[in-house]
Amino acid sequence: MTLLDGKALSDKIKEEVRVEVEKLKNEKNITPGLAVVLVGDDAASATYVNSKHKSCEAAGIYSEVHTKDSSTTQEELLELIEKMNNDPKLDGILVQLPLPKHIDTTTVLEAINPLKDVDGFHPYNVGRMVSNLDAFLPATPFGVMRMFEEYNIGLSGKNVVVIGSSDIVGKPMASLLINAKATVTVCNSRTKDLASHTKAADIVVIAVGVPHLLKGDMLKEGAVVIDVGINRLDTGKLTGDADFEDCKTKCSFLTPVPGGVGPMTIGMLLKNTLKAAYLRDKRESK
Ligand code: NAD
Repeated sequence: MTLLDGKALSDKIKEEVRVEVEKLKNEKNITPGLAVVLVGDDAASATYVNSKHKSCEAAGIYSEVHTKDSSTTQEELLELIEKMNNDPKLDGILVQLPLPKHIDTTTVLEAINPLKDVDGFHPYNVGRMVSNLDAFLPATPFGVMRMFEEYNIGLSGKNVVVIGSSDIVGKPMASLLINAKATVTVCNSRTKDLASHTKAADIVVIAVGVPHLLKGDMLKEGAVVIDVGINRLDTGKLTGDADFEDCKTKCSFLTPVPGGVGPMTIGMLLKNTLKAAYLRDKRESK
Protein backbone atom coordinates (compact mmCIF):
# COMPACT_ATOMS: atom_id res chain seq x y z
CA MET A 1 0.00 0.00 0.00
CA THR A 2 1.29 3.45 -0.90
CA LEU A 3 0.43 6.42 1.30
CA LEU A 4 -0.63 9.49 -0.68
CA ASP A 5 1.41 12.18 1.04
CA GLY A 6 -0.68 15.35 0.73
CA LYS A 7 1.61 17.29 3.06
CA ALA A 8 4.71 16.75 0.89
CA LEU A 9 2.79 17.39 -2.33
CA SER A 10 1.22 20.56 -0.92
CA ASP A 11 4.68 21.84 0.09
CA LYS A 12 5.83 21.20 -3.48
CA ILE A 13 2.83 23.11 -4.89
CA LYS A 14 3.39 26.04 -2.50
CA GLU A 15 7.01 26.23 -3.63
CA GLU A 16 5.91 26.14 -7.32
CA VAL A 17 3.56 29.05 -6.58
CA ARG A 18 6.22 31.00 -4.67
CA VAL A 19 8.62 30.76 -7.64
CA GLU A 20 5.92 31.85 -10.10
CA VAL A 21 4.82 34.76 -7.87
CA GLU A 22 8.40 35.99 -7.70
CA LYS A 23 8.64 35.81 -11.51
CA LEU A 24 5.36 37.72 -11.90
CA LYS A 25 6.64 40.44 -9.54
CA ASN A 26 10.01 40.74 -11.27
CA GLU A 27 8.81 40.56 -14.85
CA LYS A 28 5.43 42.29 -14.69
CA ASN A 29 5.44 44.16 -11.40
CA ILE A 30 2.28 42.27 -10.38
CA THR A 31 1.69 41.00 -6.84
CA PRO A 32 -1.23 38.54 -6.63
CA GLY A 33 -3.65 39.46 -3.84
CA LEU A 34 -6.19 37.45 -1.86
CA ALA A 35 -8.85 38.62 0.60
CA VAL A 36 -10.41 36.15 3.01
CA VAL A 37 -13.59 37.05 4.89
CA LEU A 38 -14.46 35.34 8.15
CA VAL A 39 -17.87 35.97 9.72
CA GLY A 40 -18.54 34.73 13.26
CA ASP A 41 -16.41 32.90 15.78
CA ASP A 42 -16.25 29.31 14.55
CA ALA A 43 -12.90 28.04 15.88
CA ALA A 44 -12.22 25.62 12.99
CA SER A 45 -12.96 28.34 10.41
CA ALA A 46 -10.62 30.76 12.22
CA THR A 47 -7.83 28.14 12.08
CA TYR A 48 -8.37 27.58 8.33
CA VAL A 49 -8.37 31.34 7.65
CA ASN A 50 -5.20 31.81 9.64
CA SER A 51 -3.34 29.09 7.75
CA LYS A 52 -4.56 30.51 4.40
CA HIS A 53 -3.16 33.91 5.43
CA LYS A 54 0.18 32.45 6.52
CA SER A 55 0.53 30.34 3.37
CA CYS A 56 -0.16 33.42 1.20
CA GLU A 57 2.52 35.39 2.97
CA ALA A 58 5.04 32.56 2.62
CA ALA A 59 4.32 32.42 -1.13
CA GLY A 60 4.68 36.20 -1.55
CA ILE A 61 0.94 36.70 -2.18
CA TYR A 62 -0.58 39.88 -0.70
CA SER A 63 -3.18 38.79 1.85
CA GLU A 64 -6.01 40.56 3.68
CA VAL A 65 -8.19 38.97 6.35
CA HIS A 66 -11.52 40.63 7.19
CA THR A 67 -12.88 39.33 10.48
CA LYS A 68 -16.53 40.26 11.10
CA ASP A 69 -18.56 39.41 14.16
CA SER A 70 -21.54 37.06 13.93
CA SER A 71 -24.06 39.95 14.09
CA THR A 72 -22.82 41.28 10.72
CA THR A 73 -25.78 41.71 8.38
CA GLN A 74 -26.01 40.32 4.87
CA GLU A 75 -26.10 43.89 3.51
CA GLU A 76 -22.84 44.76 5.29
CA LEU A 77 -21.20 41.64 3.91
CA LEU A 78 -22.44 42.38 0.38
CA GLU A 79 -21.10 45.95 0.66
CA LEU A 80 -17.68 44.61 1.67
CA ILE A 81 -17.67 42.16 -1.26
CA GLU A 82 -18.59 44.96 -3.70
CA LYS A 83 -15.65 47.00 -2.39
CA MET A 84 -13.31 44.04 -2.82
CA ASN A 85 -14.68 43.34 -6.32
CA ASN A 86 -13.48 46.84 -7.27
CA ASP A 87 -10.15 46.73 -5.40
CA PRO A 88 -7.30 46.36 -7.93
CA LYS A 89 -4.98 44.93 -5.23
CA LEU A 90 -7.21 41.85 -4.95
CA ASP A 91 -7.19 39.04 -7.50
CA GLY A 92 -9.09 36.61 -5.31
CA ILE A 93 -11.93 36.83 -2.78
CA LEU A 94 -12.83 33.96 -0.50
CA VAL A 95 -15.71 33.97 1.97
CA GLN A 96 -15.05 31.27 4.56
CA LEU A 97 -18.00 28.88 4.92
CA PRO A 98 -20.20 28.13 6.77
CA LEU A 99 -21.80 31.57 7.24
CA PRO A 100 -24.12 32.39 10.17
CA LYS A 101 -27.71 31.22 9.57
CA HIS A 102 -29.16 34.73 8.99
CA ILE A 103 -26.96 35.19 5.90
CA ASP A 104 -27.92 33.54 2.61
CA THR A 105 -24.81 31.75 1.34
CA THR A 106 -25.95 31.64 -2.31
CA THR A 107 -26.60 35.41 -2.41
CA VAL A 108 -23.15 36.06 -0.96
CA LEU A 109 -21.31 33.66 -3.29
CA GLU A 110 -23.15 35.09 -6.31
CA ALA A 111 -22.05 38.61 -5.33
CA ILE A 112 -18.36 37.74 -5.81
CA ASN A 113 -16.98 38.75 -9.20
CA PRO A 114 -16.57 35.35 -10.97
CA LEU A 115 -13.12 36.49 -12.16
CA LYS A 116 -12.07 36.78 -8.48
CA ASP A 117 -13.91 33.63 -7.34
CA VAL A 118 -10.82 31.61 -6.36
CA ASP A 119 -12.97 29.17 -4.34
CA GLY A 120 -14.81 28.23 -7.56
CA PHE A 121 -18.26 28.30 -5.92
CA HIS A 122 -19.90 30.99 -8.11
CA PRO A 123 -22.45 29.41 -10.51
CA TYR A 124 -20.45 30.89 -13.42
CA ASN A 125 -17.39 28.81 -12.47
CA VAL A 126 -19.48 25.78 -11.48
CA GLY A 127 -21.15 25.82 -14.92
CA ARG A 128 -17.86 26.20 -16.74
CA MET A 129 -16.32 23.36 -14.71
CA VAL A 130 -19.24 21.03 -15.50
CA SER A 131 -18.88 21.95 -19.21
CA ASN A 132 -15.15 21.14 -18.99
CA LEU A 133 -14.20 24.74 -19.79
CA ASP A 134 -11.40 26.69 -18.14
CA ALA A 135 -12.61 27.76 -14.66
CA PHE A 136 -11.55 28.27 -11.07
CA LEU A 137 -11.93 24.77 -9.61
CA PRO A 138 -13.01 24.22 -5.98
CA ALA A 139 -9.77 23.71 -4.07
CA THR A 140 -10.47 20.37 -2.37
CA PRO A 141 -11.53 18.32 -5.43
CA PHE A 142 -8.90 20.18 -7.50
CA GLY A 143 -6.32 18.99 -4.94
CA VAL A 144 -7.56 15.40 -5.21
CA MET A 145 -7.18 15.56 -9.02
CA ARG A 146 -3.60 16.81 -8.58
CA MET A 147 -2.92 13.83 -6.26
CA PHE A 148 -4.14 11.38 -8.91
CA GLU A 149 -1.86 13.07 -11.44
CA GLU A 150 1.17 13.13 -9.15
CA TYR A 151 0.89 9.45 -8.23
CA ASN A 152 0.06 8.39 -11.82
CA ILE A 153 -3.34 7.02 -10.86
CA GLY A 154 -5.21 6.79 -14.18
CA LEU A 155 -8.91 7.71 -14.24
CA SER A 156 -10.06 7.00 -17.78
CA GLY A 157 -12.32 3.94 -17.82
CA LYS A 158 -12.07 3.44 -14.04
CA ASN A 159 -15.08 2.81 -11.82
CA VAL A 160 -15.07 5.61 -9.26
CA VAL A 161 -17.49 5.89 -6.36
CA VAL A 162 -17.83 9.32 -4.73
CA ILE A 163 -19.50 9.07 -1.31
CA GLY A 164 -21.06 12.44 -0.40
CA SER A 165 -22.74 14.86 -2.76
CA SER A 166 -22.15 18.30 -1.21
CA ASP A 167 -21.70 21.40 -3.39
CA ILE A 168 -18.23 21.90 -1.91
CA VAL A 169 -16.73 18.44 -2.35
CA GLY A 170 -18.87 15.58 -3.71
CA LYS A 171 -20.56 17.26 -6.69
CA PRO A 172 -17.51 19.09 -8.07
CA MET A 173 -15.41 15.94 -7.46
CA ALA A 174 -17.86 13.93 -9.57
CA SER A 175 -17.76 16.55 -12.36
CA LEU A 176 -13.97 16.56 -12.54
CA LEU A 177 -13.91 12.75 -12.62
CA ILE A 178 -16.53 12.66 -15.38
CA ASN A 179 -14.41 15.13 -17.37
CA ALA A 180 -11.47 12.75 -16.87
CA LYS A 181 -13.55 9.96 -18.48
CA ALA A 182 -14.10 7.91 -15.34
CA THR A 183 -17.34 5.97 -14.79
CA VAL A 184 -18.74 7.80 -11.78
CA THR A 185 -21.30 6.77 -9.15
CA VAL A 186 -22.28 9.34 -6.53
CA CYS A 187 -23.69 8.06 -3.22
CA ASN A 188 -25.32 9.96 -0.36
CA SER A 189 -26.96 9.28 3.00
CA ARG A 190 -30.05 7.80 1.25
CA THR A 191 -28.03 5.32 -0.83
CA LYS A 192 -29.16 1.74 -0.26
CA ASP A 193 -26.42 -0.83 0.35
CA LEU A 194 -23.40 1.47 0.07
CA ALA A 195 -21.03 -1.54 0.11
CA SER A 196 -22.52 -2.94 -3.12
CA HIS A 197 -21.28 0.23 -4.87
CA THR A 198 -17.91 0.52 -3.17
CA LYS A 199 -17.06 -3.17 -3.73
CA ALA A 200 -17.22 -2.55 -7.50
CA ALA A 201 -15.04 0.56 -7.35
CA ASP A 202 -11.44 0.89 -8.52
CA ILE A 203 -11.32 4.22 -6.68
CA VAL A 204 -13.41 5.47 -3.73
CA VAL A 205 -13.48 9.16 -2.78
CA ILE A 206 -15.25 9.66 0.54
CA ALA A 207 -16.41 13.06 1.87
CA VAL A 208 -19.25 12.59 4.34
CA GLY A 209 -18.11 13.71 7.81
CA VAL A 210 -18.82 10.31 9.47
CA PRO A 211 -15.73 8.88 11.21
CA HIS A 212 -14.65 5.44 9.94
CA LEU A 213 -17.73 4.85 7.74
CA LEU A 214 -15.66 3.10 5.07
CA LYS A 215 -14.31 -0.33 6.14
CA GLY A 216 -11.89 -2.71 4.45
CA ASP A 217 -14.60 -5.30 3.72
CA MET A 218 -16.45 -2.68 1.63
CA LEU A 219 -13.51 -2.49 -0.81
CA LYS A 220 -12.21 -4.64 -3.59
CA GLU A 221 -8.59 -5.78 -3.43
CA GLY A 222 -6.21 -3.04 -4.62
CA ALA A 223 -8.73 -0.19 -4.49
CA VAL A 224 -7.54 3.43 -4.23
CA VAL A 225 -9.12 5.32 -1.32
CA ILE A 226 -9.15 9.10 -1.04
CA ASP A 227 -10.39 10.19 2.35
CA VAL A 228 -11.56 13.83 2.36
CA GLY A 229 -13.23 13.62 5.77
CA ILE A 230 -11.87 15.55 8.73
CA ASN A 231 -13.54 14.57 12.00
CA ARG A 232 -12.51 15.52 15.50
CA LEU A 233 -13.03 12.68 17.98
CA ASP A 234 -13.91 13.26 21.67
CA THR A 235 -10.24 12.57 22.43
CA GLY A 236 -9.35 15.64 20.33
CA LYS A 237 -7.69 13.44 17.69
CA LEU A 238 -8.44 14.09 14.00
CA THR A 239 -9.64 11.17 11.93
CA GLY A 240 -11.05 10.50 8.49
CA ASP A 241 -14.22 8.99 7.03
CA ALA A 242 -12.32 5.80 6.22
CA ASP A 243 -11.19 3.33 8.87
CA PHE A 244 -7.48 3.71 8.05
CA GLU A 245 -6.16 0.58 9.82
CA ASP A 246 -8.88 -1.59 8.32
CA CYS A 247 -8.74 -0.15 4.78
CA LYS A 248 -4.97 -0.24 4.47
CA THR A 249 -4.96 -4.04 4.25
CA LYS A 250 -7.05 -3.84 1.05
CA CYS A 251 -5.84 -0.65 -0.65
CA SER A 252 -3.16 0.00 -3.25
CA PHE A 253 -3.18 3.74 -2.39
CA LEU A 254 -4.64 5.49 0.64
CA THR A 255 -4.63 9.05 2.01
CA PRO A 256 -3.89 9.54 5.72
CA VAL A 257 -5.92 11.94 7.90
CA PRO A 258 -4.39 14.31 8.81
CA GLY A 259 -1.72 14.85 6.14
CA GLY A 260 -3.67 13.69 3.08
CA VAL A 261 -6.27 15.76 1.24
CA GLY A 262 -6.42 18.51 3.92
CA PRO A 263 -3.08 20.21 3.14
CA MET A 264 -3.78 20.04 -0.63
CA THR A 265 -6.72 22.44 -0.28
CA ILE A 266 -4.54 25.44 0.64
CA GLY A 267 -2.00 24.63 -2.06
CA MET A 268 -4.72 24.69 -4.71
CA LEU A 269 -6.17 27.95 -3.33
CA LEU A 270 -2.76 29.57 -3.84
CA LYS A 271 -2.68 28.14 -7.38
CA ASN A 272 -6.12 29.65 -8.09
CA THR A 273 -5.02 33.05 -6.75
CA LEU A 274 -1.96 32.98 -9.00
CA LYS A 275 -4.17 32.01 -11.95
CA ALA A 276 -6.47 34.98 -11.19
CA ALA A 277 -3.46 37.31 -11.26
CA TYR A 278 -2.30 35.90 -14.61
CA LEU A 279 -5.80 36.34 -16.04
CA ARG A 280 -5.91 39.96 -14.80
CA ASP A 281 -2.58 40.64 -16.51
CA LYS A 282 -3.90 39.08 -19.74
CA ARG A 283 -7.05 41.27 -19.66
CA GLU A 284 -5.08 44.43 -18.87
CA SER A 285 -2.48 43.78 -21.59
CA LYS A 286 -5.14 43.60 -24.32
P1 NAD B 1 -21.71 17.91 3.94
O1 NAD B 1 -22.26 17.66 5.30
O2 NAD B 1 -22.06 19.15 3.23
O3 NAD B 1 -22.14 16.68 2.99
C1 NAD B 1 -22.04 15.36 3.43
C2 NAD B 1 -22.50 14.41 2.35
O4 NAD B 1 -22.31 13.09 2.82
C3 NAD B 1 -23.98 14.53 1.98
O5 NAD B 1 -24.14 14.39 0.57
C4 NAD B 1 -24.62 13.34 2.71
O6 NAD B 1 -25.78 12.85 2.04
C5 NAD B 1 -23.50 12.33 2.66
N1 NAD B 1 -23.56 11.34 3.73
C6 NAD B 1 -23.72 11.57 5.07
N2 NAD B 1 -23.78 10.40 5.74
C7 NAD B 1 -23.66 9.42 4.81
C8 NAD B 1 -23.67 8.00 4.87
N3 NAD B 1 -23.81 7.35 6.04
N4 NAD B 1 -23.53 7.31 3.72
C9 NAD B 1 -23.40 7.93 2.53
N5 NAD B 1 -23.38 9.29 2.42
C10 NAD B 1 -23.52 10.01 3.55
O7 NAD B 1 -20.14 17.72 4.08
P2 NAD B 1 -18.90 18.28 3.21
O8 NAD B 1 -18.80 19.77 3.36
O9 NAD B 1 -18.91 17.70 1.83
O10 NAD B 1 -17.70 17.64 4.03
C11 NAD B 1 -17.57 16.23 4.16
C12 NAD B 1 -16.33 15.92 4.98
O11 NAD B 1 -15.17 16.42 4.30
C13 NAD B 1 -16.28 16.56 6.37
O12 NAD B 1 -15.62 15.69 7.26
C14 NAD B 1 -15.45 17.81 6.16
O13 NAD B 1 -14.80 18.23 7.34
C15 NAD B 1 -14.47 17.32 5.14
N6 NAD B 1 -13.89 18.39 4.28
C16 NAD B 1 -12.54 18.38 4.13
C17 NAD B 1 -11.94 19.32 3.32
C18 NAD B 1 -10.46 19.28 3.14
O14 NAD B 1 -9.82 20.27 2.88
N7 NAD B 1 -9.85 18.09 3.24
C19 NAD B 1 -12.70 20.29 2.67
C20 NAD B 1 -14.09 20.25 2.82
C21 NAD B 1 -14.67 19.28 3.63
